[in-house]
Amino acid sequence: MSARPQPLALPLDRLGRPLRDLRLSVIDACNFRCGYCMPADQVPDDHGLDAASRLSFDEIEVLARAAARVGATKLRITGGEPLLRKGLPDLVARLARIEGIDDLAMTTNGALLARHARALREAGLRRLTISLDALDPALFHELSGNRGDIGDVLAGIAAAGQAGFGSLKINCVVQRGVNEDEVLPLVEHFRGSGHVLRFIEYMDVGTCNGWRRDRVVPSAELRDRIHARWPLHALDAHYRGEVAERHAFDDGAGEVGFVSSVTAPFCGDCHRARVSADGRLYTCLFSASGIDLRADIGQGEVALSERLSALWGARADRYSELRGSERASARHVEMFLVGG
Ligand code: SAM
Ligand code: SF4
Ligand code: SF4
Repeated sequence: MSARPQPLALPLDRLGRPLRDLRLSVIDACNFRCGYCMPADQVPDDHGLDAASRLSFDEIEVLARAAARVGATKLRITGGEPLLRKGLPDLVARLARIEGIDDLAMTTNGALLARHARALREAGLRRLTISLDALDPALFHELSGNRGDIGDVLAGIAAAGQAGFGSLKINCVVQRGVNEDEVLPLVEHFRGSGHVLRFIEYMDVGTCNGWRRDRVVPSAELRDRIHARWPLHALDAHYRGEVAERHAFDDGAGEVGFVSSVTAPFCGDCHRARVSADGRLYTCLFSASGIDLRADIGQGEVALSERLSALWGARADRYSELRGSERASARHVEMFLVGG
């Protein structure tokens, strides 16, 4: 484990939670239009910041170094679709060298992964999460907003394995009446592969996806369905604050995870901050607005870490615990701006 640069006392927020995990969106554009995130009828094809409005790699590095100073040990690169950002392996190489960051990961839809996996691995990326909501080619295409080809994602998964990524996380967002029937085929496909399939409850992120609670399939229901076919037993969390509840197959064919943000909120252990591609800090996935850090980034790593410490210290977010109550804000940042 690398040593952390150590000028500041590590801040706790108002609910006593440390900052551990920084999610960096490197681009707000995407080559897909998943209906739960970026519906095609709401987000035009040419949507996206111009390149000059995005944080540069220098700025992202300052931000990541400052976050490490105030306690972050995990960095996740996300988007939009991060593989659309030019020169990404160069950024990965810079982030991989930061002292105190022990875990460098990326979330991608996988469509462009086959051509980038090796360079990312060689640059120092440690872990990959790939989003995959269906195996059926026609349904997959439809769910991607008629942009994606399942063959490309499966090729990306294979390429990641060949590049040395080892066990991948495969994330599937399940919606009632949309892709529930893909759950068992996905389990069958990934059981015994060494990869960990995780089912994510459909969330009311953003404002453009027309979220309805009756579209959420509770994790408990999915777990029961899978258990009836391939018996499961619960596993302990790897660490405090792990969002996925882990279950192993009784026959030793690996494990599956469930992320139950709607039916079993985990705000009490939420150690995550998110920064959008244009440098806005969101201390909750459901924040209505972000705090512009650009000027602070320009002041350098130490000044920025002091600002981050103050902002984190003021945090009291716990939206998922308040969902449905009067105290829960109705406006939320879009998921494609902060990256999940
Ligand atoms: N484009 C990349 C991808 O899809 O993996 C990274 C960004 S995407 C916003 C990150 C994750 O958010 C994906 O796994 C996606 O499935 C998830 N996501 C987006 N909208 C969601 C929603 N309404 N509920 C649950 N998860 C969602
Ligand atoms: Fe793009 Fe990822 Fe959002 Fe789908 S979930 S539209 S792939 S950013
Ligand atoms: Fe964290 Fe906000 Fe999600 Fe709660 S609702 S787990 S505070 S991001």
